[in-house]
Amino acid sequence: MIVGKTDITWMMLDAGAETDVTNSVGRTAAQMAAFVGQHDCVTVINNYFSRARLDYYTKLQGLEKEPKLPAKLAGPLHKIIMSTNLNPVKVVMLVKENPLLAEVEALDKCRRVMELICEKCIKQQDMNEVLAMKMHYISCVLGKCASFLKDREDKLDGLIKSLLKGRDSDGFPVFQEKFIRECIRKFPYCDATLLQQLVRSIAPVDIGNDPTALSVLTQAITGQVGFMDTEFCTTCGEKGAEKRCSICKMVIYCGQVCQKMHWFTHKKVCKKLQEQREKQEAETAKLRMKQSKGHSRNTQKPKNTTLEQRVSYKESKAAQEAADIMQELSVETKSEEMPSDFATETSHSTSIRATDN
Ligand SMILES: [Zn+2]
Ligand SMILES: [Zn+2]
Repeated sequence: MIVGKTDITWMMLDAGAETDVTNSVGRTAAQMAAFVGQHDCVTVINNYFSRARLDYYTKLQGLEKEPKLPAKLAGPLHKIIMSTNLNPVKVVMLVKENPLLAEVEALDKCRRVMELICEKCIKQQDMNEVLAMKMHYISCVLGKCASFLKDREDKLDGLIKSLLKGRDSDGFPVFQEKFIRECIRKFPYCDATLLQQLVRSIAPVDIGNDPTALSVLTQAITGQVGFMDTEFCTTCGEKGAEKRCSICKMVIYCGQVCQKMHWFTHKKVCKKLQEQREKQEAETAKLRMKQSKGHSRNTQKPKNTTLEQRVSYKESKAAQEAADIMQELSVETKSEEMPSDFATETSHSTSIRATDN
């Protein structure tokens, strides 16, 4: 049934496939997909919430004089609900891009609907804690948007900046971490197993260490594993980012817009990161020199090796590449100025920024 194509999963769900109905071996579609290793499908199924279920709130119920959700807000809100990227910056960007939504009264209405759906997910017979947590989390981010729109001159740009601002020592976004922790803590159903599981994973972690609250939450809600891999945009968390900061090469973005948004805070640590990386690479290079002394210069990949041998082969290859980069990097770079180009993933030759004064 699960064929490994997320498009098909979408089509099935839209056609009304019941996500909570179990198959003959007592497993739901999501569990079966997880069993056969279809993580993308699991993500789609766990995060599925039909437009029809949201549209219910755009219709008059009982004695209501106006529906809880104005019909024009259903589209933009549904887009946020369906996103599998829970990075709060991305959610704020989705709010910001729609003028109908980026407005206090609209956000308050959406929040109330999100909390109602959250309650329904908990109280319905086949309880869905995952969806409940997601709805609650979105409601918290929308609430934060509303409070910034009310109180702050810089509005949603100010919120994005607050979420991205890194601490001086290592650039870790402390406000974002605290905000996500607070969202989770404020989940209104204390008995929920998922809540307790999240709190247990996050509470013992010092702020700035791994795992981050965002990665724990993302894994719990979307089932995404290896979330903090290098391919996620440092700014908005979108998958498939491949534009690396050309100075430090330690952060990655989906494009110039996200790089620009992050630069105000990244510039404070960019140089430091660059130095750290260079130092590490130089050390690896030294190690490689030592290792190669006395050995015949055999660059052939060794056959029938143990895991450790294979790892050290990989490291020594990386060291050689590092030594090459070190030579290229002898050109000096200024750290205050935003790099005007990106280093590409594969080629080291673009590592030197054009000095356009
Ligand atoms: Zn991005
Ligand atoms: Zn950098």
